[in-house]
Amino acid sequence: MNKKKHPTREDWEKLAADLTFPHQAFIGGEYLDALSGETFACESPIDGRILTQVASCDTADADRAVKAARTAFESGVWRDLPPAKRKQILLKFADLIAANKDELALLETLDMGKPIRFSSSVDVGGTARVLRWTAEAIDKVYGEVAPTPANQIGMITREAVGVVVAIVPWNFPLLMASWKFAPALAMGNSVILKPSEKSPLTALRIAGLAKEAGIPDGVFNVLPGFGTKVGKALAQHMDVDTLAFTGSTAVAKQLMVYAGESNMKRVWLEAGGKSPNIVFADAPNLEKAAEAAAQGMAFNMGQVCTAGTRLLVEASIKDAFVALVNKALTKWQPGHPLDPATLNGAIVDKQQLTKVLGYIEKGQQEGAHLSAGGEQLFETSGGYYVQPTVFTEAKNTMQIAAEEIFGPVLSVLTFDTMEEAITQANATVYGLAAAVWTADLNKAHKTAKALRAGSVWINNYDGGDMTAPFGGYKQSGNGRDKSLHAFDKYTEIKATWLSLE
Ligand code: NAD
Repeated sequence: MNKKKHPTREDWEKLAADLTFPHQAFIGGEYLDALSGETFACESPIDGRILTQVASCDTADADRAVKAARTAFESGVWRDLPPAKRKQILLKFADLIAANKDELALLETLDMGKPIRFSSSVDVGGTARVLRWTAEAIDKVYGEVAPTPANQIGMITREAVGVVVAIVPWNFPLLMASWKFAPALAMGNSVILKPSEKSPLTALRIAGLAKEAGIPDGVFNVLPGFGTKVGKALAQHMDVDTLAFTGSTAVAKQLMVYAGESNMKRVWLEAGGKSPNIVFADAPNLEKAAEAAAQGMAFNMGQVCTAGTRLLVEASIKDAFVALVNKALTKWQPGHPLDPATLNGAIVDKQQLTKVLGYIEKGQQEGAHLSAGGEQLFETSGGYYVQPTVFTEAKNTMQIAAEEIFGPVLSVLTFDTMEEAITQANATVYGLAAAVWTADLNKAHKTAKALRAGSVWINNYDGGDMTAPFGGYKQSGNGRDKSLHAFDKYTEIKATWLSLE
């Protein structure tokens, strides 16, 4: 199918019918069942079909994986390779991911319901790009030499931290994982990847590709598991050096407790968000801003940590702008995820759908005005679909505007002055991202500076690539993924001081 330029839904369905689903954990270079023999059902949100039964790991498997990872690390089989060699192997890993793009994209779509066009370009394509960029950087990161008196030499070097556990969410299963495992592997660490129980398939599949690329046994392990057991066992483990997490703020806080109660492992957190998207009346192109606002709340069915779910519009243009957003949302209505024309697919599972529908009901009870959407769709398919939903007359004090819904629900608020926009934008426990639309350079920069968020976009939404660090202020987390800053999470800095006789 790779040779065909524009595969159809039928092509994807045919490929899906022949697909083998990975279902075992990957430890020490081998695919293995959980020691308990337990499994959990992996359901597709497209139609509620059970795709496969996946190994449900627990504490015993965590011990086994940590041992394998520690042994590989201490042996030096990976960390002591010349940087150029590690780079070559990670580039091969990227090539193998790209070569298996269709299979991986299909696994991602079947597993968590996102449209195949985005699984292919954003998730799998993006993962290969993350690996390539990071691999290319390996042999370009230098240490430092301290300014010393003539009889001393001070060297500041980076060393791999050891065993890194990456616990990741289900919204971009492979891509979020790659933001962790690429820099961790690049710096010479051993990695244990713990995918979400809602989307374990691609993580399991790429473990075999990592081995094929030449990553030594024990350096890259994948541990799926149902519920919190295996994640908790890894987070509390005395022989894990670093925990890198992407997920909800509630679990992020719990991981800090686990680390504090165990060995004070380093904890890096990418957590939730409720990002403000500020549109001033003098935005250079209101239609473009409206399209970006629609995409910013609806993309990936709104299951994006940086989703622009609080739209702050200057009061004088509110009605006209909301009309433009609602119009732009027509193309973001859900369709079948395997149809290449579909821009929006299914919500990840029934639990998440129920949560989203609950907030839609709540918004109406709280007195916000339902301006678009609000309905569940395609119920008879057995899958989980909901219309992108817009509430106007929202206030920051309402639950729909204050809490992360992680679904396609937009709260529209208004402001009259720049100061008011900034105050409202910052009135949140989160600080992941924010956007500002204005033609006034002064206003753009003043607002951008005042926003308490790790990423600020001016006259675009969700801009940036691998060169830009990504992470949160406040309860959106600490540390940064992507760019050279990502290496800080996976290295210790050593000062070596030498006296010359
Ligand atoms: P989640 O916090 O429920 O789960 C994330 C991961 O943690 C999963 O692998 C889960 O199995 C594991 N986990 C859950 N409880 C655990 C425990 N007690 N101990 C150890 N591991 C545990 O999040 P989710 O529902 O998978 O993902 C959605 C959340 O992720 C949203 O809040 C979203 O904002 C956030 N997210 C953040 C970013 C970012 O970069 N800041 C990116 C994507 C998603």
